[in-house]
Amino acid sequence: MKFVFPKSPKPDHIAQSDWNNWTWQLRHALKTQADFEKHFELSEEEVAAFHGGKELFNIRTTPYYASLASARGGGSLRQILMPHRQELEGGTQQMLDPLGEKKNNPAPRVIHRYSDRVLFLITDICSVYCRFCTRKHFTGQEQAFIKNEEYEQALAYIRNHTGLREVILSGGDPLTVSDAQLDKVLGDLRQIEHIEIIRIGTRMPVVCPMRVTDDLVKILRKHKPVYLMSHFNHPNELTEEAAIALEKFVDNGVPVMNQMVLLNGINNHPALVQALNRRLLYLRVKPYYMFQCDPSIGTDHLRTSIEDSLEIQKELWGHLSGLAMPHLSVDIPQGGGKTYLVPNFQVGQEGTTRHFVGWDGVRAEYVSPSAEKIRKPDASMYEEEWLMLKNSKNRT
Ligand code: SF4
Repeated sequence: MKFVFPKSPKPDHIAQSDWNNWTWQLRHALKTQADFEKHFELSEEEVAAFHGGKELFNIRTTPYYASLASARGGGSLRQILMPHRQELEGGTQQMLDPLGEKKNNPAPRVIHRYSDRVLFLITDICSVYCRFCTRKHFTGQEQAFIKNEEYEQALAYIRNHTGLREVILSGGDPLTVSDAQLDKVLGDLRQIEHIEIIRIGTRMPVVCPMRVTDDLVKILRKHKPVYLMSHFNHPNELTEEAAIALEKFVDNGVPVMNQMVLLNGINNHPALVQALNRRLLYLRVKPYYMFQCDPSIGTDHLRTSIEDSLEIQKELWGHLSGLAMPHLSVDIPQGGGKTYLVPNFQVGQEGTTRHFVGWDGVRAEYVSPSAEKIRKPDASMYEEEWLMLKNSKNRT
């Protein structure tokens, strides 16, 4: 089946040239209750959240995403952008910093958790403040693009830690900054000999696909290899504009991988997960992660259980190709790192024989060679490199 990506529902009174202009979308962002009332009939629970919700987490969306949510979301996209009374009501687990980022923050705007890579938070601004956001301790405080002095300190940290090989630009949303600012950041990072890979984590292709201009992709291509990590959560987010944006990256040599979050009552259904990921794959975007929602403050009503997520993944197994299947993963709270969650098909073990029941009920054994028969190849050419990688966090 070939897929159809419908054009976004533009209100008639807005000129097409404005609608297609990403800076117009950002300048005309919806921020207040009155702004939202122009697009939605607000419920009591939503109105309640405008009084108090903003202190918990900023409120903002683009006209593009608001129109999409009100016309095509079927209520799902609306829950992503719209504050709700339940955000203020507490719940089972409420953490301001669920990933323990503050304790892994050795320089301004730098999060160094894993050995060989750092997050570099170049801005705290996003064009949409997703209600499930995991970084509420930082995002949306309107501090904007990183200040010069902090920028130099962050860059010095990355330069001095020669064990690093990857920098992930995050935020906030790094694609809300200007082309000139982004070009400078990428250029400065490319000057650092030990940095091999740059990633950009962004929701802009979802909430403001007009950001993906010819000039932007030229900049990314100039500083290759740059990987784009998109964040589509629902098949209804894939409009014609979003599809064009994603293909523009890939056509210009920028690989795109998608990270989705399973959200309660929004996308936690195998039919939606397969629909999203097959369409992404068709657009040459690799489905990468399917995250369990972090227990960020105000998100209890948006989180589904690990049991539900595993059930979804198990249903998809065998029906969705490996290329289209994202890795189900949970970030262990307080900075424990990511761990994969996979269906357990093993039903028993005796010695070197393991018993399995496959996804459609096939029963079989896998018999391993005995331990004394296991040999290791000569890896001397790469052992030093491997040791350096393992010790990279402490190397300056
Ligand atoms: S775009 Fe990302 S950082 Fe910004 S609010 Fe949404 S999830 Fe949080």
